[in-house]
Amino acid sequence: MTKDNMTVNKDDTICPLCQQQNQCGIAAEHACWCTKVKVPSELTQQVPASLKNNVCICQACIEKFNIDNAQPAK
Ligand SMILES: [Zn+2]
Repeated sequence: MTKDNMTVNKDDTICPLCQQQNQCGIAAEHACWCTKVKVPSELTQQVPASLKNNVCICQACIEKFNIDNAQPAK
């Protein structure tokens, strides 16, 4: 396995927002959790255009977004 660490990582297993494993199952044989979860458009807007619709945002980022928006800022 080789890794090109000088370019933008287009690995579709990596969340474009937090650079962590997105646990996407699309690449695997079973359906991904992300097909059942509504991804906030505010989050997808943060994904670089080159990665949009190619790479999944991870569950952690979606949850974090939902938590941040569910609770009033204090
Ligand atoms: Zn993420």
